[in-house]
Amino acid sequence: MKDLTQCVVTPKVKTAGFETLGIGVHRGSTIVFKNANAYASRAQSGHDGYAYGLYGTPTTRTLEAKLTALEQGIRTFLLPSGQAANAIAIFSFLKSGDKVLIADTVYPPIRDFADSDLARFGVDVGYYDASNPQDLERQIDMRTKIVWCESPGSTTMEIQDLPRIADIAHRYGALVGCDNTWATPLHCKPLTLGADFVTEALTKYVSGHSDLLMGSVTVGNENLIAPIRSTLGRLGIGASPDDASLVLRGLETLGVRLSHAASGAQALIEWIQKHPIVDQVLYPTLRDFPGHALWKRDFLGASGVFSVVFQPAAAPHLPPALDILKTFAIGNSWGGTRSLMAPIPVKQHRSVCGWTGADPVLRISVGLEDLSDLRADVENLFADVAARMG
Ligand SMILES: *Cc1c(COP(=O)(O)O)cnc(C)c1O
Repeated sequence: MKDLTQCVVTPKVKTAGFETLGIGVHRGSTIVFKNANAYASRAQSGHDGYAYGLYGTPTTRTLEAKLTALEQGIRTFLLPSGQAANAIAIFSFLKSGDKVLIADTVYPPIRDFADSDLARFGVDVGYYDASNPQDLERQIDMRTKIVWCESPGSTTMEIQDLPRIADIAHRYGALVGCDNTWATPLHCKPLTLGADFVTEALTKYVSGHSDLLMGSVTVGNENLIAPIRSTLGRLGIGASPDDASLVLRGLETLGVRLSHAASGAQALIEWIQKHPIVDQVLYPTLRDFPGHALWKRDFLGASGVFSVVFQPAAAPHLPPALDILKTFAIGNSWGGTRSLMAPIPVKQHRSVCGWTGADPVLRISVGLEDLSDLRADVENLFADVAARMG
């Protein structure tokens, strides 16, 4: 081989015997075939075969296999973000004239996707009261193809009665999809509660270090594989093996990070609840939280994300007071090692149930810092809000 050829061709080195605990990062667009026949029949390689980099590499397939096992599903697809996972999962099953019913408490960008894009393509978009399956029953009809859930609901944490919702949806032949990002596949298994497919924003707890974006869709039924896989192929959507490798690393410590975050959240909440500027804390482990009984029945644990509703006189003073924080960072997304706070307006993202609490609500994600530093930050913040009230 001449030098310039040598520069391009990858020499074979021995890989047998290189048994590591993790999978390497397999990058690839081109898949090389042994001969012309193998190339000609590449479309018959099946879901587990390799035909083109877009459809998966050993690295992305390893993460998909781990998630499939944890979700108790039959196949997982990776996407470049949690939003993409939600939007594409919903999109794959709809056509003009169909109807989709979405929980009123859903992650707001999904409302935007439904109201802008699904509506533009002639899909009838409706919202139902996440806490009241009877409202779903009132609105569902034979045109309804998807019932979309997210439990707990975005910011306000309503727990949905998934088995009852699935029962209603299936009577009308609709599929049930559920965004499981808060609980992660460790603490809730929507496919075992009646959902047909489940999505995760792996960006949050599963990757766990605020350094990448990725999403997953896991299906519980063979018939759902082809529609999603072919939609991903036609739209040209795949996930980076480098990022998948980081998610695989994060997933190994998910269990200890989640337990730590949940116990930190519980400890902070005990103090927060007693503060006079606080109206209520929204967190499903709390005995007086409306969804507590359902959470106890259907979930295997909590995470470290909760929301604080302030007294009406205090709430408007929250955003400027956040500048006092030293340990908490101010920002969106959550589930990383660093604790975060974000003031979230709720009312503008609800069309069915409204929102009677004060806006904005404070969303808190507890990370891995020393609890005494977090507690000091919360104390300073609340004292500053109280001082601004005069
Ligand atoms: C963050 C989030 C998403 C979107 O995930 P990205 O990876 O940021 O696009 C979807 N659903 C829920 C519940 C989320 O919290």
